[in-house]
Amino acid sequence: MKTALSQLAVERPRHLKDALQRMSGSLADERLTPLAGGTDLFVYLNAGTHRGTRFLDLSPLAELRGIKATRTGIRIGALETFDRIARHPKMGGWPLLVQAARCVGAAQIQNRGTIGGNIANASPAGDSLPVLLAYDAIVHVASTRGERTVRFADLQTGYRQLAMESDELIVAVEIPAVAPKAAQFFRKVGTRAAQSISKVVFAGVLVPGRGGVMEHVRLAWGSMAPITTRAPRAEAALLGHKPSVQAAAWAGVALGEDLVPIDDIRSDAEYRLDAARNVLAQFLRASHAGYRG
Ligand SMILES: Cc1cc2nc3c(=O)[nH]c(=O)nc-3n(C[C@H](O)[C@H](O)[C@H](O)COP(=O)(O)OP(=O)(O)OC[C@H]3O[C@@H](n4cnc5c(N)ncnc54)[C@H](O)[C@@H]3O)c2cc1C
Repeated sequence: MKTALSQLAVERPRHLKDALQRMSGSLADERLTPLAGGTDLFVYLNAGTHRGTRFLDLSPLAELRGIKATRTGIRIGALETFDRIARHPKMGGWPLLVQAARCVGAAQIQNRGTIGGNIANASPAGDSLPVLLAYDAIVHVASTRGERTVRFADLQTGYRQLAMESDELIVAVEIPAVAPKAAQFFRKVGTRAAQSISKVVFAGVLVPGRGGVMEHVRLAWGSMAPITTRAPRAEAALLGHKPSVQAAAWAGVALGEDLVPIDDIRSDAEYRLDAARNVLAQFLRASHAGYRG
C-alpha cells in the first residue's frame, strides 16, 4: 500500500556536521533515512515498502557536491547527479563512468539520481557500480566519529548490505587516474536503450605492458550475482597474454566458473552467461585492433 506522504517528516540540516549529529541522534528513536535525489526512495514509498517516516534532506550539504581533480585522480561528491557526471569536463579520463551515467534511467532520472544514492541503494543492477569496482574506487563515509575511507570492493558485503554504520553518510567517491594506454569498455545489456534495468552490466579495464601482454585486468559485472562482482578466474586467464582468440576462449570458460547468475523476471541464467561471454569477447576485440576473434 502507498505510504501516506502527510505522515512523513523531513529534516533539513544546514551543513555536514549538523547532518551527522542528526543522524547519530536519530538512532535512539527512529533512524533518519538520508534523502538525496529520491529516485529510489519515492519508488519504495509508492510501493509501501519503505518503513521509515523520518527523512534527512541531503540537498543543502555543499560538502557532498563538487567534481574535482585531485593529485591521484578525481573526487566526486555523493550528491553529484548522473547528468552532471556525464557532462563534466573533468570526467574525460574516466569514460566508463560517463557512459554508465548516460545509461541510468533516462534524462529525468539522470537529472535527479545521484552517485551516492546509487552506491547506498546497493542494487546488484546499479549501473555505476561495476565501473567503481573496475576503477578501484574509494568511498568516503562520515559520521560524528569522523571521516573514513573504504575501498568500493570492500563496501558491498552481501545482497543490499554495505559495510557502513547506520549513522554514516556517503560523502564522496574517489577514483584513481587510469593508465593513459589502458583499454576501457562499458556495456549495459537491457531490453531497450533507456529506462531499462540491466540484464548484464559490465565495466572492463585492461592495461597492456611490454610486448602488448595484459598486465592489469579488471572485469567487473553487475546483475550477475547478489553483489557487483569481479571475475577473478577470467582476469587470471588474461593476465600475461595478448588479447587473442585463444585468450578470449580461456577467459570465456573461466567466466562460467566466476559467475553463477540467477534466473529472474528480467532474464535467465543461461542468457546472462552467454551475454557476458559475448560482452567480454567484444571488449577484447575492441581493445586490440589486430585481434578479430
Ligand atoms: C524510472 C527509474 C529508472 C531507473 N533506472 C536506473 C538505471 O538504469 N540504472 C541504475 O543504476 N539505477 C536506476 N534507477 C535507480 C536510481 O535512479 C539510482 O539508484 C539513483 O542513483 C539513486 O540515487 P538517488 O539520489 O535518487 O537516491 P535516493 O532515492 O535519494 O536514495 C537511495 C538510497 O540511498 C540512500 N542514500 C542516498 N544518498 C546517500 C548518502 N549520501 N549517504 C548514505 N545514504 C544515502 C537513501 O537513504 C536510500 O536508501 C532508476 C530509478 C527509476 C525510478
